[in-house]
Parts: sequence; structure tokens; C-alpha cells
Amino acid sequence: MEKKLRAQLEKIVGKGVVLTSKEDLTTYSYDGTATWAHMPEVVVLPTTAEQVSQILKLANDNKIPVTPRGAGTNVSGGSIPIKGGIVLCATRMNKILDINKTNLTATVEPGVVLQDFNLALAKQGLFYPPDPQSFLGCTIGGTVAENAGGPYCVKYGVTKQYVLGLEVVLASGYIMKLGGVTVKNRTGYELAMLFTGSEGTLGVITKITLKLIPMPQASKTMMAVFDDMVVGGQAVSNILASGVVPAKIEFVDNFILRRIEEMMPMGLPVDAQALLLIMADGSPAAVEVEAKQIVDTLKKSGAREVKVAKDAAEAAKYWKMRSAGFAATFGAAKTVLAEDVAVPRDKLAEFIGKLGEISERTGFFISHLGHAGDGNLHPAIFTDVSDKENFAKAQEAMEEIFEAALSLGGVLSGEHGIGLEKQRFLKRAMDPVALNLMIKIKSLLDPNHILNPGKIWEEERV
Ligand SMILES: Cc1cc2nc3c(=O)[nH]c(=O)nc-3n(C[C@H](O)[C@H](O)[C@H](O)COP(=O)(O)OP(=O)(O)OC[C@H]3O[C@@H](n4cnc5c(N)ncnc54)[C@H](O)[C@@H]3O)c2cc1C
Repeated sequence: MEKKLRAQLEKIVGKGVVLTSKEDLTTYSYDGTATWAHMPEVVVLPTTAEQVSQILKLANDNKIPVTPRGAGTNVSGGSIPIKGGIVLCATRMNKILDINKTNLTATVEPGVVLQDFNLALAKQGLFYPPDPQSFLGCTIGGTVAENAGGPYCVKYGVTKQYVLGLEVVLASGYIMKLGGVTVKNRTGYELAMLFTGSEGTLGVITKITLKLIPMPQASKTMMAVFDDMVVGGQAVSNILASGVVPAKIEFVDNFILRRIEEMMPMGLPVDAQALLLIMADGSPAAVEVEAKQIVDTLKKSGAREVKVAKDAAEAAKYWKMRSAGFAATFGAAKTVLAEDVAVPRDKLAEFIGKLGEISERTGFFISHLGHAGDGNLHPAIFTDVSDKENFAKAQEAMEEIFEAALSLGGVLSGEHGIGLEKQRFLKRAMDPVALNLMIKIKSLLDPNHILNPGKIWEEERV
């Protein structure tokens, strides 16, 4: 890396937070994906929007790529510095600036870790529902840039439903304020939403105002055991059609529950083909009524057994099991292709049936885990990237999974984003005029394409 650039960056942020050693660069060269990695030339860790602004001005003037980064837990290749250049990591911008219990809002810097935020809110009886299962490490900036979801989103919605205001630094260095601290805001286009889910390609988010809700007073967790995955999938639609919207409905298949039982024995029914984990929450009286209705529906829908957690400790055990699910999948093979498709919720059983057919046809075992209440599954295929033939076939099997989801009216990504991982499928999944509009918006906001270049759409289109 040019000494001059390093010196210029150090002038902006100070010494010790401009990293260029091979070890440091390697640390920021990968993310949660199994197959993507690329070395940046330099990593810079600013602490203020003004510093971010100066870094972007410098990069824009010199046409240097900048890849924004939070904790690097994304699973779409979003924070891979695929064109080299600067990784701008926001983890030192980690202050919770305000929690307003009367207005039910909070304002945070982007590097606040989601779990730290949750703990701070819990002390005040407040609740921020979007709960990606990487909550122990992921940053709020990363969750806004990915519009992340999680189990609670069945009832409460995904990140975008909570973003009220943003401060964003544009590629030019301009520090722009969007939205505000009101829950209603009809002032022109909803530009804060444009940046929510923009995967670091339109600007660097430096401040976020979020809507909060009071912590639900009570909850009840249920675990339903199924001998057939398709029957389990149909039970999800039956619950939603019964007039109850539970806080969470999660799906775990036999493979994953056996892996979890191996890792942390807790007496899971290891012969079950599928488990549904369901939570009802709200006032104590409402929870009783809803839980009874859910249990009745599960039994009528073919559950072999329905367990209601007797106390908070048992419920916490089940949810810990669920949050270990993704890690259990990733540890299962040398290379794990874990996807993130979403289908209409009334098509979940049909989709699970199609996954079975694809597995049979291609010979690849497919594991199933996901936010079933949102129709959002993470089918995973186990392969080895160093075995070229097997890896190519695994990718073809994954393409069949995408096709199956799209054919049911589903989408390429429910929550993980497009990044690098799914850009080659984007043309297939999107209206071409809409795709070109996106590229034009990108060019308008970032004419030199310095912000997270090479992401979302295939390069030759830009
Ligand atoms: C075990 C595990 C479980 C997971 N479970 C879920 C889940 O349930 N639901 C879900 O939605 N996701 C899940 N994920 C994916 C991931 O954790 C989320 O996408 C999360 O939002 C990423 O946050 P991060 O801080 O790690 O961001 P990063 O991975 O660092 O970055 C993600 C994207 O955001 C951009 N970005 C980061 N910070 C900024 C900023 N300040 N300004 C502009 N752009 C920025 C980056 O360029 C990149 O494109 C999981 C991942 C793992 C490893």
C-alpha cells in the first residue's frame, strides 16, 4: 500500500487504527461465507461521522474502493473487500447515544453490538425485536445495512420496520440526515428505507434511530415433534390460519437437532424428523389463550408430541438450541452452502416437499433450518470446495433450490442479502427495469462506484 495513503488515513483517524499488517488484513478479508475471501489494502477504524466523511472524500478523490464493515458475520459476502482498497470498520463507533422510554426510541452508533443494545434496553423494560441469531456479535449498523430478520419477526417485523432515522455519509463525504425520531413521517420519499438493506453500496451509516416497544409481560414456549417434515411445514400455515400470530415459529430438522444434541445434550427427541419451536407472548391472559390455541392446532396438524416449557429456564434451553442451529450446520462439513430463501407462508410445506425431491434427484443431503413462520428457510448442502466436481454439482443443486423457491412465488433472499453469493441469480429473480433502476440509483449516489463495489449485481451491468 502506498505510504502516502496510510499517512493520509492516519492524519484523519490517528495512529494505531490504520491497519496494514498481513495478519490484520487477513482478519478483515473474510466474513461468514464459506467460499469468499479477498485482502484489503488497508483497514481503518474511525470513531466519528466526520472521520468517515474525510475517509470517503479521500477515497472518492482517488477512486479507491471502500468496503463498510461491522462485525463481518454476514453470510452473503457483503463485507468481503473484493476489489481491495479500504475496509472501513465501524466497530469503534459503539455508543448507545440515547434510550428514550417516553418516546419509545433509541439512537445508536452503527458499531453497537446487538446483544449489548438488548441488555441495555432490558434494564428499562424495553424491547427491540429484530433478532438475527448472530446477535452476540453482529452490529446494529450491519443489521440495518442487511435489513436483518430473526425468529421474532413473525409477529414484530424485520429491521426496516424499526428504522425511523439514519445519518449516512455519502461517497462524496456529505453527512446526510434522513427521517427522524417520530413514528410517523410523510416528508417526501422514504430515503431512510433506501439505505436500509443497501448492503453498504450507497453510503456509510453512522447513526441510527430505532423504534422500540415495551418488553412483553409474559411468554410461553412450545416444542412440537413431527415424524414428517412436510407435515411440520403444513402445521406452520395452519397456526397462522387459525387466527394467532405467534411471536416466533422456528423449524429444525432431524440432522440439526441430532448435531445439537451431540454438542449440548438436552434430551431432544433425536428420532423426530422435524421440530417446531413456537413462542406466544404478550399479556399473561392473552398468552394463555394463544398458547392453548397453538397447542390444539399443532395436535390437529399431526404433531406426535407437543411440549410446553414449564418455566423460563426450560424455554431458554430450547431457544439456545435454536440459536446454535446455524453454527451446528456450519461445523458439519468442510464447505457448507447454507442458503436463505423465502416462500409465501402458505407454500412452506410444498417447498419442503420440493427440497426432498431435489435431494433425491441430485444425491445431496439437504438440511433444513429456518424462520418458518416467515416462510424463510436456510437449506444447507454439504460439500468440499477443494473437490471441484462435487462443489460444482452442489452449486447446481443449490440453483435448483432457488428455482424451486422462485417458482412458488418466493425470493432469492429473505434476510441475508445478495452480496457476492447470489448476484448471478439476480437477473433471473428481478424485473430488468427495476434492476436497472437500482443501478442508476447507485450511480447517482456514488458516481465513481467506490462504495462496496462488485456487490449485488454482476459487474458488467454497471
Ligand atoms: C451464526 C449466524 C447466524 C445468523 N443468523 C441470522 C439471522 O437469524 N437473521 C439474519 O438476518 N442474519 C443472520 N446472520 C447474518 C448476519 O449476522 C447479519 O447479516 C448481520 O446483520 C450482519 O451484521 P454485521 O455487523 O456482522 O455486518 P457485516 O457482516 O460486517 O456487514 C454486512 C453488510 O453490511 C454492510 N455494513 C456494515 N456496517 C455498515 C455501515 N455502518 N454502513 C453501511 N454499510 C454497512 C457491509 O458492507 C455488508 O454489506 C447470521 C450469521 C451467522 C454467522
